[in-house]
Amino acid sequence: MGLKCALDGPSGAGKSTIAKKIAQKLGFVYVDTGALYRSIGLYAVRNGAKTDSEEEILPLLKDISVELKYVDDVQRVFLNGEDVSDMIRTPEISMAASNVSAIPAVREFLLGLQRDIAEKNDIIMDGRDIGTVILPNAEVKVFLTATPEERARRRYDELVAKGQEVTYEDILKDINQRDYNDSNRKTAPLKKADDAVEIDTTKMSVDEVVDSIEELIDAAKRRDFKVIPAWRIRLYSILRVIAGAVFFLIFDIRYKGKENLPKSGSVILAGNHRTWFDPVLIAIRVKYISSYMAKAELFDVPVLRSIIKLVHGFPTRRNSADVSSLSRAEEFIRKGYNLTMFPEGTRSRDGKIGRARSGVAYIASKCGVPVYPVGISYKGHLCFRRKITVTFGEPISPEELKINNLTKTELRAAGERVMSRIAELVESNG
Ligand code: C5P
Repeated sequence: MGLKCALDGPSGAGKSTIAKKIAQKLGFVYVDTGALYRSIGLYAVRNGAKTDSEEEILPLLKDISVELKYVDDVQRVFLNGEDVSDMIRTPEISMAASNVSAIPAVREFLLGLQRDIAEKNDIIMDGRDIGTVILPNAEVKVFLTATPEERARRRYDELVAKGQEVTYEDILKDINQRDYNDSNRKTAPLKKADDAVEIDTTKMSVDEVVDSIEELIDAAKRRDFKVIPAWRIRLYSILRVIAGAVFFLIFDIRYKGKENLPKSGSVILAGNHRTWFDPVLIAIRVKYISSYMAKAELFDVPVLRSIIKLVHGFPTRRNSADVSSLSRAEEFIRKGYNLTMFPEGTRSRDGKIGRARSGVAYIASKCGVPVYPVGISYKGHLCFRRKITVTFGEPISPEELKINNLTKTELRAAGERVMSRIAELVESNG
């Protein structure tokens, strides 16, 4: 199951332009549900049926099959096997679609099809009732609006560019009529879902709207804590408190940079690696549940393996690009866990900072999440009541990592950026 973004709003608010751009940018499938209603409208017109008459439309439905197919990532709609994608874009068919869409049986007819498509992919689906009826559990819901005059102007420009002969006044009349129809019909009227974010696009550029929705999608990816079972979060909190009590007793631990502690899940915590219990030192202060990237050898010891797994640890082979480990890391982050890792891949006995492997930059960039650097230091040998300082630094945003193409050179440079921030923290520890 993928992430679902429901994009509703009146005709001409810019839904399809925006949705196409987002789909292209984020690799989502774009589903234009208006095309389905338009196809039924077209069928009705072709068969001489009155498009607002339930009695005339109902008998036609059994002869209609509508399908969406993707040709070069572009949605095409097929009515009884015929590609009608271009013919459904006329003002006549717009009005026919608006009329047939008020008939409950037509909406029922298209409901399953829309939900089936949404089931399999990361999708952005535009329509009128996506957030309220079709995908009430969509992670992101947006209600796009604009003044009727602005919407009419956009539609007019679009149709004229396609060579259609239309007047602005007719389009405005059409838009007002369709707004009225869509908002006042009994079944699934056009209305903002309670949990949708309304964006008025009248004075916004397309890119500004795209950016706003992308931010909402990013935020949804991060906050999706629902998928983490509650018992895991509780168990993790209990273990954290116990570990804190034990370690504060044994060592003299000082924390600095509390203002930089993450305020959400789905971030990466990356520290220098001094002791075997560095993950615990970090976990004591970070209240959000974390997963841990741990060297594969630790999983060979049965007791250790069970403990590490209990706290969502997963193995990584250090001397190769461990693809399965990277995808586990991604999976945890997308579910809302943090990821705690040590980019050097191995412990430094003398406290010198080593070079980062490419994993940290790769995961941060793939998931679009910030990296929180952590500097850990102590002097001399580890012994009872040894002073250990742990400093949390300001997060490094994915943009600061400057990764565009995930090339080795970029990843190495980004890894170095992370390590140098960690080194500064270690230095500040004195
Ligand atoms: O979005 P588009 O303008 O292509 O939609 C055509 C018509 O189909 C709309 O005016 C609306 O009446 C109807 N529609 C709907 N529910 C949807 C999508 C479109 O009622 N989810």
